[in-house]
Amino acid sequence: MLTAFISHPDCFEHETGQGHPESAARLHAIEDHLIEVQLYYLLRHLDAGEVTRAQLLRVHDADYLDALDASPVPDGLRHLDPDTVIGPHSLRAARRAAGALVTAVDHVMQGDVNNAFCAVRPPGHHAQRDRAMGFCIYNNIAVGVAHALEAHGLERVAILDFDVHHGNGTEEIFANDPRVMICSTFQHPFYPDIPFEENGSRILCAPLPAGAGSREFRAAVETRFLPALDQFRPQLLFISAGFDAHRDDDMSAINLTEADYAWVTGCSVELARKHAGNRIVSTLEGGYELRSLARSVEAHLRALMELH
Ligand SMILES: [Zn+2]
Repeated sequence: MLTAFISHPDCFEHETGQGHPESAARLHAIEDHLIEVQLYYLLRHLDAGEVTRAQLLRVHDADYLDALDASPVPDGLRHLDPDTVIGPHSLRAARRAAGALVTAVDHVMQGDVNNAFCAVRPPGHHAQRDRAMGFCIYNNIAVGVAHALEAHGLERVAILDFDVHHGNGTEEIFANDPRVMICSTFQHPFYPDIPFEENGSRILCAPLPAGAGSREFRAAVETRFLPALDQFRPQLLFISAGFDAHRDDDMSAINLTEADYAWVTGCSVELARKHAGNRIVSTLEGGYELRSLARSVEAHLRALMELH
């Protein structure tokens, strides 16, 4: 498989303040590790485009976008919520993070790559239509999904979200859209502690109790998600790839390993081969312990590229 690696220098410029877990060191750790294990040069490197206002308006309210644009941060940092910080360059980074998904969708749909991974920050899956939340400013994956539906005319797309936190923003944005299926695993009870609602056979949630690991995770994917996805027949598969459920990551009490990320990505590749002409667009969400994050991204990419 030919896999695109989509990022942008602006994504490194989003400052969150000393000690904040969501820092540029995450992207540095990923890139350094991929170079070290000699995977970096096997990827097709693409610069993330800048998302347009029209693309953002598909998933966010105009008032929210205006409020962000109207509040420049000349120096210093400003809190959008208790966890979400923006600095002088953050909106530029956020426009590239969301734009990366548009770039990924366009390239995967054109067929010049089979699949794509967006190595971007800030992450996106907590951002709701009208607010930033949990380190997220724009809902990057939602922007990509909406672009696939509106610009490429797809009728069925699915999102697999294995970040350890519930992707409440993505779920809110597509709650009433029958073209979008969402399958998500997350620690529960846990942040963001917003009641989640399963929606028939289209929004599937697999809450995992603290202490759960590979067995519980794989059982949920195997017995619940894969049969439902098989039935839904997505034309394009998106992945909210957060690696904060890794057992080395202090952010959570779930104990996944690189092997689990390789496995779930392999399942996704099989599903995409069957229904979606191999098309997968994956984007980085969480993952805060730098070494396990970098190794997990490697495992994810090897599975996307079908290098074993
Ligand atoms: Zn997370």
